Amino acid sequence: MKKFGFLVLLFVFGFVLPGYSHAAADTHIILDGKEIVQPSGAKAENIDSKVMVPIRVVSESLGYSVDWKQQSQTVTISKDNTAIQMIVGKKKATVNGSNVDLDAPPLVKKGTTLVPLRFIGEQMGLKVGWNNTTKTVTLVTQNSGSGNGTTTPPSSGNQDGDTEQEGLVLVNGISFSDNRFIIATSGLTKPNVFTMTGPDRIVIDLPNTAFADSFSQGHALDNNQNGQLVVDGYPDVSRVRYSLFDNSSSTIRFVIDLSSAKGYSVQNDSGVVLIDLNNQSGTPAPPVGGNGKKVVVIDAGHGNQDPGAIGVTGKREKDFNLAMALKVEALLKKESKIDTILTRSDDTFLALKERVKVAQDINADIFISIHANSGPAAATGVETFYSRSVSKELANVMHKYLVKSSGLKDRGVKMASLHVTRETTMPAVLLEGGFLSNKSDEAVLFTETFQNNVAKGIVAGIKEYLGIQ
Ligand SMILES: [Zn+2]
Repeated sequence: MKKFGFLVLLFVFGFVLPGYSHAAADTHIILDGKEIVQPSGAKAENIDSKVMVPIRVVSESLGYSVDWKQQSQTVTISKDNTAIQMIVGKKKATVNGSNVDLDAPPLVKKGTTLVPLRFIGEQMGLKVGWNNTTKTVTLVTQNSGSGNGTTTPPSSGNQDGDTEQEGLVLVNGISFSDNRFIIATSGLTKPNVFTMTGPDRIVIDLPNTAFADSFSQGHALDNNQNGQLVVDGYPDVSRVRYSLFDNSSSTIRFVIDLSSAKGYSVQNDSGVVLIDLNNQSGTPAPPVGGNGKKVVVIDAGHGNQDPGAIGVTGKREKDFNLAMALKVEALLKKESKIDTILTRSDDTFLALKERVKVAQDINADIFISIHANSGPAAATGVETFYSRSVSKELANVMHKYLVKSSGLKDRGVKMASLHVTRETTMPAVLLEGGFLSNKSDEAVLFTETFQNNVAKGIVAGIKEYLGIQ
């Protein structure tokens, strides 16, 4: 455990004049001489003579990881062996489990947690300052003394390492399922969500983000980086539009077009931004998996430029997979004890690791990937794959229903090292619902009857495995 010295230069608070400054005042945060980009609408602010700063951008700039738990309103920042936990509205924080007093309780503004500057300085070993005339916070990391010997580069970046643009979080994919809009990203973002009227819509701005290469391959983006996701089967929502809204702040804007004004709640845990429209009479919906609900991720294999297997008559696996996933989702929507998340809800593409990331970030209870097979012309039937022993029981249960509901040959439950079932940590299976390379399998797979029956079978298997009546 590290002990940081009390490095705050207390005299700087002498410049803080009593009274309020308004959010409209443009404030700045300078860390080691470099300005930090702040969330719009929740910038550093002088509130009741206490300078409050947005904790996420500051701590991420210092190389801390930030975790926000909506349910408990708790923000935890950690680096090396230090974990600092703060709760919105509470003047007590903990540093590695020990109580520490704050001079003002953290507060949430437009989805951003603000904490006292002084506390940040003390706990992160920074010299801090506030110039009330220029409305500028200065933060200086310490290069010696008190054990916090390293200066961290100001860019937090992301771990995925492939196509990122410097300092920007990537938008990997979007989907709409169970009346929720989900944005899968490569890392933490600071969404700014608000409503607009005439016509009614919900706007989600994600500053410091860029469309991932795989996103622009999978989703139509015109020359101005505009596109849309068409939403079917939901009376309140017709589509979600998206665009690179502001080039200078790299803000991607999503607009959910509504048929009438509608409440919503926002969940932004760790790289998945989720806008939940399942609210009743103004009460925000509990987070996904709240109220004891089970979280089921349904993953329609392939998509867009990746068709998967091509059938004897040219039918494409990706279309079968999506049709099945949407039918399963429609049935699961009626289940009050299950929250359903689709990794894709239209003909778009997500990389395998991004499908895994969605399930991990959303803390799924089970993961079910839907595919169709290809092989020698004579090969026929269904099979179920799993990769880790924790998934074996789920595989057995799902396979039992897959065989029964498909009426196809039972090829058995098999263990194989497949990315999505291997890299996830919850029970995960991959269903192969017949061979597109087989003439009779292909014909039956694209009938409504077969798809509806198998969808019912999949739902029955999910319910049996989860112990839901
Ligand atoms: Zn496949």
